[in-house]
Amino acid sequence: MSDLDNAPIARVCGGREEVSGGPVRELLNPREAHLGGSTVVRRLLPNLGRRMVGAWAFVDHYGPDDIADDAGMQVPPHPHMGLQTVSWLHDGEVLHRDSLGSVQTVRPRELGLMTAGRAIAHSEQSPVAHPRLLHGAQLWVALPDADRNVAPAFEHHTELPQVTAPGLAATVILGTLDGATSPGTTHSPLVGADLALAEGSEARLPLEPDFEYAVLTMSGATHVDGVRLAPGTMLYLGSGRDRLPLRAVSDSALLLLGGEPFEEKIIMWWNFVGRTGEEIKQAREDWMASDRFGTVRGYEGDPLAAPELPDLPLKARGRIR
Ligand code: MN
Repeated sequence: MSDLDNAPIARVCGGREEVSGGPVRELLNPREAHLGGSTVVRRLLPNLGRRMVGAWAFVDHYGPDDIADDAGMQVPPHPHMGLQTVSWLHDGEVLHRDSLGSVQTVRPRELGLMTAGRAIAHSEQSPVAHPRLLHGAQLWVALPDADRNVAPAFEHHTELPQVTAPGLAATVILGTLDGATSPGTTHSPLVGADLALAEGSEARLPLEPDFEYAVLTMSGATHVDGVRLAPGTMLYLGSGRDRLPLRAVSDSALLLLGGEPFEEKIIMWWNFVGRTGEEIKQAREDWMASDRFGTVRGYEGDPLAAPELPDLPLKARGRIR
């Protein structure tokens, strides 16, 4: 997934300043962004006043959309660096191609995990013959400085661990929840989990007090720590919790995102995460005029052109661990 904004701004993210040291309940509303094809997403991160949750640096929620009569999602080849992308579907299919030669259809409740490391390019599209509905989330995880230049990789995991409690079935997408760990490769302590709650059920989800968390509602209506959430909204929860009370008004699906506060400062622009403005500028130039990011084979159409470069921060200030 790519940011199709014609003039994306550069953001400095990370560090301790925004991290709440205790439990909070901060409702985040989405803004709409266009992805390519008919797909309009609700962007939850980065958000006004809230740029990261642990290492999670980007959260888009889309659908459910009826795409029976159109091409659905069509995101041409575009580059990434310094991050991982997570594709998570509830309905539909996404065909992923990348410059490593991966060609993979990702289906509901399967993990598509792409580690960009120093450089990768990919395309994402609804297959020509596709199911009527498309509903999912696209997430980015920032890589810590020590690992951000690792070799690019793509993983596809169809068997993910489950954590169950009365009225609750949680699928661990990435990281660890209540001792259950996803097979997806991680580079910092974090969790991403899909929570399915039956109508009327109540549950207390075990959390790590050292992590900060947020919950996104994919479908249904649930009270999260007493706050009723509708689909497409996210509640930032801060840290310092060992349990999270959930009460489902209807059959509901939530995404739990959390992690150790990401103490490094990063610069995010377009599809890149870097540490200096110079690196971001170089990545843009390399995408437009070199083969650093490789070629996505099999995609019919032109790759995305990089937007114009805005004024960039020279460096992300703050602690580098
Ligand atoms: Mn992408």
